[in-house]
Amino acid sequence: MEIIRTAQILANNTETPFYLYSEIAIKEKINLLRERFPNPLYEILYAMKANSNPEILKIIIGSGIGIDACSIEELQIAQLIGTDSNKIYYNADCLTDKEIDYAVSNKLNLVVGSIDAIEFLAQRYSGYSIHLRVNSGVGSGHSDSVVTNGELSKFGVSLYEIDKAIEICAAASISITGIHSHIGSGDLSPDSYIANAKIMVELSKKFTSLKSINFGGGFGFDYKNGQSFDLDNIFSSFNQLRESSGIGNDVKFILEPGRYLVASSGSLIARVCSVKNGIMRKYIGLDTGFNHFARCFLYNAWHEIVNITSNEGPTYLYDVVGNLCQSGDVFARQRMLAKTKRGDLICIKDTGAYGYAMSSNFNSRCRPAEYLIDSTGNTQLIRRAESIEDIITTHIQGRK
Ligand SMILES: *Cc1c(COP(=O)(O)O)cnc(C)c1O
Repeated sequence: MEIIRTAQILANNTETPFYLYSEIAIKEKINLLRERFPNPLYEILYAMKANSNPEILKIIIGSGIGIDACSIEELQIAQLIGTDSNKIYYNADCLTDKEIDYAVSNKLNLVVGSIDAIEFLAQRYSGYSIHLRVNSGVGSGHSDSVVTNGELSKFGVSLYEIDKAIEICAAASISITGIHSHIGSGDLSPDSYIANAKIMVELSKKFTSLKSINFGGGFGFDYKNGQSFDLDNIFSSFNQLRESSGIGNDVKFILEPGRYLVASSGSLIARVCSVKNGIMRKYIGLDTGFNHFARCFLYNAWHEIVNITSNEGPTYLYDVVGNLCQSGDVFARQRMLAKTKRGDLICIKDTGAYGYAMSSNFNSRCRPAEYLIDSTGNTQLIRRAESIEDIITTHIQGRK
């Protein structure tokens, strides 16, 4: 409710569209995770690709959660806000020499998922410790695009190459202190997560200097029905696994959720610019598009949409669409909404994860602002909207 009232006030005083986040919503999720998975047996990392706004990151790292970064730029953002290097895990795909050099020289935890990158480390950084990313074969996700394990996944060292990885490391005195495997993103059932965990715990017996097993992120968020993800199930499976495998308490279990922590914290607020009767459908056209929020376009994802200007009276079936010059720019098809008119405000809910983080300048449009309602109820700008200057700043003028 507070979100909606704040959104209305902001929209009357500032430009739309904008993202609006709730600190309390993030803290609720942090607490749920921390209660279930306390130190020192567990370590929680936040996969910052879900939402890398520095103010959001500060809330999360302020609670003792570490960072899972997947690009040098993410590392630099994490470092700029003061994250301890021992709490930063670098887990990028297709590691370049430069990325490996950066991680090693900054003494970060480095997760490596290919034999050739291990060979490079063996040549240049004998003595370093690494985490080995494994493709356990068990993958799942809300869309094929976000399955990160299994036969068709590009990530990790395949099980049949693990021995080779161990050999190369041993020969170069590189110790493998952690193993890592991430099934994919957004499965609502914990079954695959647990199946993967079993394989990883079994696999851990091959390693002699292990200090952690990282089971990745991927905890699903139920955008449609609001069911909460079954953390208890994962927790009890972890306990059973610890007991049955005899893994000592000196080996911690690492979890690295992204979406789980931030999805529900954010809303994208947009203004209706057009309501029209098409040939077959009624359309609500917004002042935003998939350049600001891509999940519906990319994954056909379902997000709750409400008219926060008027929510009474007769309802109609609408297609809710964006303003980009591409017909796939659709947020929802055949959604029942209150009678909507030009100038109304629309809230697209649960856009805190993979929202702004996946935004672009397609159509040369600027990215929107982001605001945060903090725990005391104050609302602050946490990223300004872009302007044309931001867009043209990389242009080269005066080619000869
Ligand atoms: C994306 C990613 C995550 C987070 O996934 P969520 O579905 O947002 O929890 C965690 N670990 C790795 C390695 C990832 O690539």
